[in-house]
Amino acid sequence: MTAVSVSLGVGPTSSVASPAGASPLAGTAAEARRRAAEREMSRARRNARVDGRERRRRSDAELSQIAERGRRELGGSGPGSADEATAHEVIAWAVEQFGDSLAVASSMTDSVLSALVAEQLPWVDVLFGETGYHFAETLGTRDAVAHSLDVTVVDVRPLLSVAEQDEAYGPDLFARDPEACCRMRKVEPMRRVLSGYEAWATGVRRADSGSRAKAELVSWDASNNLVKINPIAAWSDDELVGYALRHGLTVNPLLNDGYPSIGCEPCTRRVSAGEDARAGRWSGVDKSECGLHI
Ligand code: SF4
Repeated sequence: MTAVSVSLGVGPTSSVASPAGASPLAGTAAEARRRAAEREMSRARRNARVDGRERRRRSDAELSQIAERGRRELGGSGPGSADEATAHEVIAWAVEQFGDSLAVASSMTDSVLSALVAEQLPWVDVLFGETGYHFAETLGTRDAVAHSLDVTVVDVRPLLSVAEQDEAYGPDLFARDPEACCRMRKVEPMRRVLSGYEAWATGVRRADSGSRAKAELVSWDASNNLVKINPIAAWSDDELVGYALRHGLTVNPLLNDGYPSIGCEPCTRRVSAGEDARAGRWSGVDKSECGLHI
């Protein structure tokens, strides 16, 4: 019921409901403290289990070898084959290999991946690229995820606010140079934060688009220099929505309003029946990815 939301550099961002009869502020503060204590205890217990093991970030060479081993052990006969590991098995492997050095990246389209990882790694860091251009519904989804799941939501912000970027590069850079805008507001901030982890879990699915059709369950992410885990790569749209419904998980309301893929508001439009799910992203521009997943 409460939020443990961390905003890099700008302090906590979320609020919580209070018990009946109590001051809303007191309830919020007390519940937030309880959640923070629970999170610290959980992490301390995990750290105690790995005491004695050197906890430096392993080298790129070591991590890429682990990625290759994971790809072979979990990938079966290849992407889409019947003998691939399940999402649960992939996450179990990743938690065993990386522990708290594993982060989840979320666009806040839904909370399925965050919930799946939190089951096996409570209070896992969930990284959200807070570009300053999100739909209100997406920010609401972020807050609901922070309140309802045992995760630590981290707002990953760019160095420049939207106003500072407008001043330096002129207004509405997204309309003139979306590559530069995505680089400054999404890719560079996320890479800075990811450099503190050994692996990240993403919600990339093969059903998203043709460019993701061969996504592996585990791979070495040479662009971002860490291991990339795609536990739900094999899931269809129906499987994802069905899982969210069965488990009462938060879903961005825009999904039911014509937006099967949700990014920043200026660069996302509704799609028509029969259009590709990602056709509404950077529509009319020769661009289909922000740059983090390529
Ligand atoms: S999606 Fe659009 S607004 Fe968001 S960072 Fe990229 S170009 Fe900028």
